[in-house]
Amino acid sequence: MPMQRQVHAEVSEKPREAAPQASDLQVGENVEEPPSQPTGQPWPEPNVEPNAKTDVEPNAKTDVEPNAKTDVEPNAEPDPEPNPETDAPEAGRIIRLEDVKELRRRAARTSPLTRAFRKRFYRGLPDKLWNDWKWQIANRINAPAQLERILTLSASERQAISDPHAKLPLGITPYYASLLSADDPAQGLRRSVVPTTSEWTRMACEADDPLHEEDQSPVPGLVHRYPDRALLLVLDFCSTYCRYCTRSRIVGGRSIFPSRKRLERAIDYIAATPAIHDVILSGGDPLTLSDDRLDWILTRLRRIPHLDIVRIGTKVPAVLPQRVTPKLTRMLKKHHPLWMSLHFTHPDECTPETTHACGMLADAGIPLGSQTVLLSGINDSVAVMKDLVYGMLRMRVRPYYLYQCDPIVGSGHFRTPVEKGLEIIRGLRGFVSGYAVPTYVVDAPGGGGKIPLMPDYRAGREGDDLLLRNYENRTFRYPDGPGQEPTIIL
Ligand code: SF4
Repeated sequence: MPMQRQVHAEVSEKPREAAPQASDLQVGENVEEPPSQPTGQPWPEPNVEPNAKTDVEPNAKTDVEPNAKTDVEPNAEPDPEPNPETDAPEAGRIIRLEDVKELRRRAARTSPLTRAFRKRFYRGLPDKLWNDWKWQIANRINAPAQLERILTLSASERQAISDPHAKLPLGITPYYASLLSADDPAQGLRRSVVPTTSEWTRMACEADDPLHEEDQSPVPGLVHRYPDRALLLVLDFCSTYCRYCTRSRIVGGRSIFPSRKRLERAIDYIAATPAIHDVILSGGDPLTLSDDRLDWILTRLRRIPHLDIVRIGTKVPAVLPQRVTPKLTRMLKKHHPLWMSLHFTHPDECTPETTHACGMLADAGIPLGSQTVLLSGINDSVAVMKDLVYGMLRMRVRPYYLYQCDPIVGSGHFRTPVEKGLEIIRGLRGFVSGYAVPTYVVDAPGGGGKIPLMPDYRAGREGDDLLLRNYENRTFRYPDGPGQEPTIIL
């Protein structure tokens, strides 16, 4: 039975979760000093208090403190300095050919929506900061007043973001916020990251952990469901939170930290289990870790002889493309064979910035596959899905999985009937390149794993002939029986 939660009128301006901290992972002597914020200010040091029950390190002081030098509130006073990425050249100013080329190059790599957004809300912010992934994380929109400044909120959104007890925090990078419609609460990207009171409704079929990941965790933060694969949850932080997240029970909850002790336990389990050939790093978003921390994890995994591949599941190229830097790709290249599953939701995510980030990953030799959750009113039409799969192919990402939305608590407004997924696959197969058609799967509640679903193209049998319907719904015969009489043709 649907259950309504109480509406809380109090508005909390305090961020409810924190970026991964410098000291969340003590990785030993071989690792460089933790990264500092763009101004050179160190990230706030957390108080680490071991928790015997969860073997994680809850952290009382991990909120990213406002930094007067780096934090730029939306609607901040304009900086008098011109910004080549957002401002037109001053009239009468002599411009060199190289400058024009550079302006064109940057403009080609910047979404027009993002340019307009920066001009309106972050005018004067140097490119260096905007393009710094740590700045994007430190300045993500995670308080009601910040969101209210950039969006005209609906009553449902306003109520939901003011709920201090929300399970999944609000978090949107300024970059991703630039792609949201300011006035249309029904816009796909906006619905995927801005909470509404629909999240307060619980259906009878829903559960916090419908896939029973907790039951299949031999050590904290490691899910071992299939014989040859393991899922390593490295942290619970994401730069941007998707409202339909399968792991909303943990992400942003500050319960899974990338502590050395916990990760070593998980890696020891993998090392002691020769049946495991494939490890998927997930969370939270592993690419929100620093290069050094990720390098440490990948190095440790690479020492395990029976591991054939390591995969990273991430939404970073879509929500924080600034994170994909030459330094990151240089580091990742050391750990081949390395694969990535990139999470995309809607064709509006296929921006020049994201295309550039995916290109860098592909150039580093990393095969890129996509994961997309089928979401009602966001991407549940053949037309939107066609745009998305072609957009991904243009970004060198192979559409891999289309997921039926899992029955997690508060996700009823996102779920479609399974028939909708089959209709979309029917609308893609034969009409778009075979490379553009993902596998549609239902992740079985109860921990049964992914079950692929396909429209049935069989139309019956006539004698030894199998009747098949093609993508245009025309029927063809295929000889498929023992009764065929051989004929000598020579
Ligand atoms: S990026 Fe992935 S883990 Fe993070 S909120 Fe979105 S779906 Fe969940």
